[in-house]
Amino acid sequence: MSSETSPAAGWGYAPIGTDNVPTHCGGYALREGGADWVCGACDEHVRVGDIPGWTARTDATLAPTIPGVGSTTRG
Ligand SMILES: [Zn+2]
Repeated sequence: MSSETSPAAGWGYAPIGTDNVPTHCGGYALREGGADWVCGACDEHVRVGDIPGWTARTDATLAPTIPGVGSTTRG
């Protein structure tokens, strides 16, 4: 009934450390190389650029300031 034209239907992503990893079938995808990833469960291939909202965080986001070090506590 509903025609799914999205090339990355069912794909999402989750942050792992400083990277974003594509997710499918409720699990993480495996990297084939470059922007190509494959689902470990159903062998569905995807390019990260086709995932809605995808953003590569590696080297794109500076390390956030770690709270606790040199924190000024007032009280
Ligand atoms: Zn899958």
